[in-house]
Amino acid sequence: MSFSPVSHTQDDALHIDAKKLAANLPYFDYVNDTLHIDGVDSHTLKQQYGTPLYVYARRAILDNFAAYTQAFASIDSQICYAVKTNSNLAVIKTLAQAGAGFDIVSKGELARVLQVTDGSKVVYSGVGKTPDDIEYALSADIHCFNVEAVSELDTIEAVAARLNKTARISLRINPDVDAKTHPYISTGMKDNKFGISHEQAIAAYLHAKQLPHLQITGIDCHIGSQLLDAQGFSDALDKLIELIDELKTHGITLQHIDLGGGLGVRYIDENPVSVNDFANLLLPRLQKLGLKLYLEPGRSLLANAGVLLTSVDVLKPTEFKNFAIVDASMSELIRPALYQSVMAIIPTKLDTTGDVQTWDIVGTVCESSDFLGKNRALPLAVGDTLAVTGAGAYGFSMACNYNSRPRPCEVMVDDGEHRLIRQREVLDDLWRGEIA
Ligand SMILES: *Cc1c(COP(=O)(O)O)cnc(C)c1O
Repeated sequence: MSFSPVSHTQDDALHIDAKKLAANLPYFDYVNDTLHIDGVDSHTLKQQYGTPLYVYARRAILDNFAAYTQAFASIDSQICYAVKTNSNLAVIKTLAQAGAGFDIVSKGELARVLQVTDGSKVVYSGVGKTPDDIEYALSADIHCFNVEAVSELDTIEAVAARLNKTARISLRINPDVDAKTHPYISTGMKDNKFGISHEQAIAAYLHAKQLPHLQITGIDCHIGSQLLDAQGFSDALDKLIELIDELKTHGITLQHIDLGGGLGVRYIDENPVSVNDFANLLLPRLQKLGLKLYLEPGRSLLANAGVLLTSVDVLKPTEFKNFAIVDASMSELIRPALYQSVMAIIPTKLDTTGDVQTWDIVGTVCESSDFLGKNRALPLAVGDTLAVTGAGAYGFSMACNYNSRPRPCEVMVDDGEHRLIRQREVLDDLWRGEIA
C-alpha cells in the first residue's frame, strides 16, 4: 500500500498533508479542522495546561502493547517495556496493568517501576552496573540481569554472595549484525560498546556456571532502534540459536531468549515492518526453540501515542530563511538535534486559505542545532499552535533544563478525558538542590 502525506515543494521544502498524516495515527484526528487527541480538543488542552505540552493517548499505548501480546500469543512470552522511552509513572502504570514487564537501564528507572508495581518482571540491561545498582535490583528481586561484560558476572556474584541471594542472569550478546539505522542508535555491531561478543560468549557462560550465586536463565541481544525491517532481528536470532545449541553441548540449558527492542515506527512516511510480520518471521524458529520469549519494545509502544504541542511566539523572515520561533526547543525534544530526525510538525488548526511559506521551526535555545524541523511549508501566524507528532517516545524522557528552561507538563488523554500526569516545572525547580 503506498502512503505518503509528504511532497516537496519549491526550494525542497517539506509539505506535510496534516489530515492524511493524522488519518494514519490512531486516536489523532481533525474534528472541525481542529486536532483532537482521543476525543479531546488540542486547544482545550492548550488553554488548560499551557504550552509546551506533552500529550499521550492512553488507548494508543494499550493498543500498541496488545499488538505485541497478540502477535506472539502462540508462544510463552513476556513483553518488557523499555522504561527509558517514556518514564512517566502514569505510562509505567498503564503498561503494568496491561501485563507488561519492564526493561530498565538504571537504578532510577527501577525505582520508578517500583513506585507502581513489583520487580518480578524486570530485566536490567545497561553497560555499567555498580555494586550499589546490583544490590538495589537484588533486593527488588528482579527477573534477571542482562549482563553486558564478563567482569559484571564477578561483580554480581560478589554482591549476591554478600546478600546471600541468587541472581538470575542472561548474557547480552553483541551478535555483530547491521541493523541499518542511524549510527547513534545502532547497538549490535562489533564496534559498539554493548554486550558480549559472540566469540567470548561461551567462555562467559562457562565462567558464570562456576559462580555459586548466579543462576543462568537466558540469553539476550538488542541490536538497535528505529529498525524498519526485520532482517537484523532474524540474523540476530540465528546467531543466538547457534549459541544456545553450543551451550547445550556444555550442559547449559536456558529458560528464555530476549530479542530486545528496536522495532521502528512511521514518523512521516517510513514503512516499518508491522508487529505481525515481525512475529510471523520469527515464530517458526521460536516455536522450535521452545524457550520463553522476552521482548523489550519502547519506541513502537509510545512514539505515535504522543505529541508535543507548542506555540508560535515569533515569526522572523530573513533574506535567506524564515524562522518560526516556538516555545519548545531542543531542551524539550532533542531528537532532531541529536539524530537529525525528521519529525512531522502539523498545525492544530487547519488553515487552507493562509499564505504558505517555508519555515525553519526553531526554539529559543542558544545553539544552531536547536530546531524541531527545517524547511517546512506551512501557513503560520504568531499565536498558532503546532503539534510535533511521534513525540511520545524519547521526548520528555530526554528533556533537560538547558538554558534554564523549566520542563513542560505531561497530560494523559483517555477516551474524551484528560488528566495531568506531570506538573509543569516552576522556576524553583531549576535550582532545587543547589547551594549558593
Ligand atoms: C533502548 C532499548 C530498548 C528499546 O528500544 P526501542 O527502539 O525504543 O524499542 C530495548 N532494550 C534495550 C537494552 C535498550 O537499550
